[in-house]
Amino acid sequence: MKASHHPTDDLLLDYGAGNTDEAQSLLIATHLTLCPRCRGVVEKAETLGGALIDAAPATAMAEGALEAVLNRLDEPDDAAAYQEMGSATADADISIPRPLRDYLTGGSTDALSWRRIAPGIQRHTLTVKSEGKTSSAYLLKLAPETVIPHHGHHGEEMTLVLEGGFTDAGQHFIRGDVEQADPAINHQPVIDPDGPCLALVVTDAPLRFTNLLPRLLQPILYR
Ligand SMILES: [Zn+2]
Repeated sequence: MKASHHPTDDLLLDYGAGNTDEAQSLLIATHLTLCPRCRGVVEKAETLGGALIDAAPATAMAEGALEAVLNRLDEPDDAAAYQEMGSATADADISIPRPLRDYLTGGSTDALSWRRIAPGIQRHTLTVKSEGKTSSAYLLKLAPETVIPHHGHHGEEMTLVLEGGFTDAGQHFIRGDVEQADPAINHQPVIDPDGPCLALVVTDAPLRFTNLLPRLLQPILYR
């Protein structure tokens, strides 16, 4: 089943331009292994980003530079590249997608140290670089029918479902889905009754889109 809840396109573009921190990159890379739609967005961003950088020294601001970049998108290699990306989904059936597995001792969640933080809720903090103001990442193991108490947000919070599912604010999230929490919404996920839920959560650093490149790419990608 395909993911139906995705990270924002701003965030995907930032990832494509190399502007996300390690925890954000981990969550997005893990989502991408499960989501052809977002792989397409990131691939376009990377192609456009590289082309803009290539074009910049010689033709910055020049009339026709944008056209040249856009023409590259039409090159026939694109179709082959998409197919190649598609074939990578052979990994998607493995319970823990590769980008996340690389962060786990023994490549599995079994050997991890889990800390019980509330009834039905266990947490394992992942080691990611935290220089300056960057996000943190942790795994949650949630028992069936657990109601996660209402929690406020200091910054942004993203939750990627890896196993099982939950319902929040009237929407259902399953494996591959990303919930990007809106602090304005009363946020109270309820875990599905038919099994436990495993989720990757990235939290706390406000998302910053200070880099010019994603802002430039946004209108080009979605014109
Ligand atoms: Zn997606």
